[in-house]
Amino acid sequence: MTITKKLTPFEEVNLFFDRAADRLQLPDGCREMLRRPWRELGVQVPVRMDDGRIEVFNGYRVQHNGARGPYKGGVRFHPQADQEEIRALASLMTWKTALMGLPFGGAKGGVQCDPRQLSEGELNRLTRRYTLNIEHLLGTNRDIPAPDLGTNSQTMAWMMDAYGQLHGHSPAIVTGKPVELGGSLGRESATGRGVAYILEEAAKNLRLNLQSLRVVVQGCGNVGSWTARLLHENGCRIIAVSDVRGGIYNPRGLDVPRLVEHKMAGNSVTEFREGDSIGNAELLELECDVLIPAAIDNVITDKNAPQVKARVVMEAANHPITVEADSILNDRGIVVLPDILVNAGGVTVSYFEWTQNLQEFRWEEDRVNEELRKVMVRAYRAVHEKVTSEGINYRQAAFEIGVQRVAQAVNLRGFV
Ligand code: NAD
Repeated sequence: MTITKKLTPFEEVNLFFDRAADRLQLPDGCREMLRRPWRELGVQVPVRMDDGRIEVFNGYRVQHNGARGPYKGGVRFHPQADQEEIRALASLMTWKTALMGLPFGGAKGGVQCDPRQLSEGELNRLTRRYTLNIEHLLGTNRDIPAPDLGTNSQTMAWMMDAYGQLHGHSPAIVTGKPVELGGSLGRESATGRGVAYILEEAAKNLRLNLQSLRVVVQGCGNVGSWTARLLHENGCRIIAVSDVRGGIYNPRGLDVPRLVEHKMAGNSVTEFREGDSIGNAELLELECDVLIPAAIDNVITDKNAPQVKARVVMEAANHPITVEADSILNDRGIVVLPDILVNAGGVTVSYFEWTQNLQEFRWEEDRVNEELRKVMVRAYRAVHEKVTSEGINYRQAAFEIGVQRVAQAVNLRGFV
């Protein structure tokens, strides 16, 4: 497929949506309602910097669709987090929560900034100002943020505190909080654990032996590090891992616990000595069985898709493969397991965290992980069943299930 104009991230996601809507034969009005965000807010986020200057950042919250429940979606702090990117990610959340059968709609938020250049005090002030400026959209039954790229449990603690100053103690207003403040056991590892559960299931259908799989992971933050750690525990050979500065490659397999320990101590993956240095571009083209982009969007494009040598690509990051690259990988017979399925472990345990907060009750970690497994396996099987019975690819099947459920909710509620 040739696309001449460069599409925005939101237009790209909407191409996937349109393909699902076409096969589902959604009427035009319904399609239009589901395509566009229901509500969007852009705010300025002025921050007093440590040197006394005021810097003004752009902040966003996009509520894409709330037909199936309160809006749910992460908050991203990243230089490329502009309105179009946040729209795309909000839309993906709508289809993801529906595919997983969680009682949420889809949203996303972000502040266009480079968190690595900000001090802890500046990040705290930025998070509080952003929260206050979008506060009127939030609510424990309205819109519940969570961490994403460039944010973490500390960011959620600041958001909860800022919201709580206006509304009283409200732990259910955000998920992915520190456990000490009502966060769920198992939330931090949940997205990576979900990736591992999906690979276990997919391995059965694709006749892959976990014990001999060579796996490459791009990104060593929350999702990448937990994915690498858990797949290593499952017996896979993790042959390369990277972060923003570059990667490390060892065809015999990396000592992942030591690598993660090294990373958690504040070092870059590139400074880990037990392997050869490798660039992020090169890493995506390594000979391997499973390639897992777990960092940022649009890393596999029409330029490098012909060089991808993996048998399976698992989208642990959101939208790491452009539409054109997706077609190239499909044509080359490479199985692509889509983001709205693969990385849904995070929002699933966010749902568990929210319910625990509402009930003022805590689950044991084993229970969290077991319930997560049930939700991931159920969703995978529904998608796989559609793939085999209808002869479509995994992304198409996953989108069709998600879109159909949201369309059904809109109709049942009698919106129009
Ligand atoms: P994070 O900030 O914890 O980690 C991001 C990692 O990517 C870091 O190791 C960073 O060094 C690396 N990175 C940044 N820019 C890069 C580049 N240009 N090339 C290579 N590596 C780069 O973020 P995260 O929470 O792990 O999120 C990663 C991805 O997973 C995002 O797409 C996010 O939307 C998605 N995701 C996250 C969650 C979650 O629970 N945190 C859930 C679902 C999906």
